[in-house]
Amino acid sequence: MKLVLLGPPGAGKGSLAALLKKSLGLAHISTGDLLREEIKNHTALGQEAKSYIDQGGLVPDELVTRLVEHKLKTIQGGYLLDGFPRTERQAKDLDQILARLKQTLDSVIYLNATLSVIIDRLAGRRVCKSCGALFHIKNKPSQKEGICDLCQGQLYQRPDDNEATVKERMRVYLENTKPIIHYYEEQNRLMTVDADKDSEDVEKIILKSFDL
Ligand code: AMP
Repeated sequence: MKLVLLGPPGAGKGSLAALLKKSLGLAHISTGDLLREEIKNHTALGQEAKSYIDQGGLVPDELVTRLVEHKLKTIQGGYLLDGFPRTERQAKDLDQILARLKQTLDSVIYLNATLSVIIDRLAGRRVCKSCGALFHIKNKPSQKEGICDLCQGQLYQRPDDNEATVKERMRVYLENTKPIIHYYEEQNRLMTVDADKDSEDVEKIILKSFDL
């Protein structure tokens, strides 16, 4: 199965992706994670991406699209795209990449969450430095404060989860990403789910809709 997860920052794309990855055996392709990995490895692409990410803006389309195409070519079987596409240009480029790979998307899942839920999720989000597992100081605390339950790695708050950058990410989302919801709606490929619910409940709804 080939899926896209769409939604604002804090809608729960990463948490849902981790669940669907397990239950459907899909590869999880998060462009945010791929870009952070490039930054960690001090690559030229990472250096270029960093300033955009730190300011809550979007990394230029051609950089991200190149990264995604490269990744998709290495994957056999199903996958889940998380955080891509984020602009109409990227959505159209994705269609072309899929055509070249002779693949089609099964569904584009739009996680529709309200602003107060989003802000609360992002303010409390903690991420494992080693394995990327997601926690939340109130909703999903780790057993030992600051330590990942899965790999004992250190938990940290993403630098772009601060209040000012979150505001800018939301503005960028509304301007650039929200319009592509209509792009997929017109193609009858969109499934909208209430993402104020816990990721486990959202996952159940999605699996049910696929008769799984
Ligand atoms: P995320 O982990 O999905 O919240 O992404 C973190 C940041 O990476 C975003 O705020 C953007 O700066 C950048 N980013 C991730 N995916 C994309 C994309 N598809 N297009 C442009 N920038 C992206």
